Amino acid sequence: MNPPCARCGKIVYPTEKVNCLDKNWHKGCFHCEVCKMTLNMKNYKGYDKKPFCNAHYPKQSFTIVTDTPENLRLRQQSELQSQSEFWCPSAGPIVKV
Ligand SMILES: [Zn+2]
Ligand SMILES: [Zn+2]
Repeated sequence: MNPPCARCGKIVYPTEKVNCLDKNWHKGCFHCEVCKMTLNMKNYKGYDKKPFCNAHYPKQSFTIVTDTPENLRLRQQSELQSQSEFWCPSAGPIVKV
């Protein structure tokens, strides 16, 4: 069973496969997200499960981290928790141990 390409969705055969970032790519489809420069296992930089060239790899000085779906989910979860913690109409606020 040959996996689909993470870029174009077509089947990747073993001869043209690049296995990187937990995905399978055609050699030609494994290119920088920004400039489309073709990359290989030696010169790619992985970020967010996507390949980037050296020039376009998001640097630390970039502030990207704030609102990833995962962060939003965690924030919603903790908001829900803090609501239920204090909601008790008969006994008033509950102090969680
Ligand atoms: Zn492809
Ligand atoms: Zn690039």
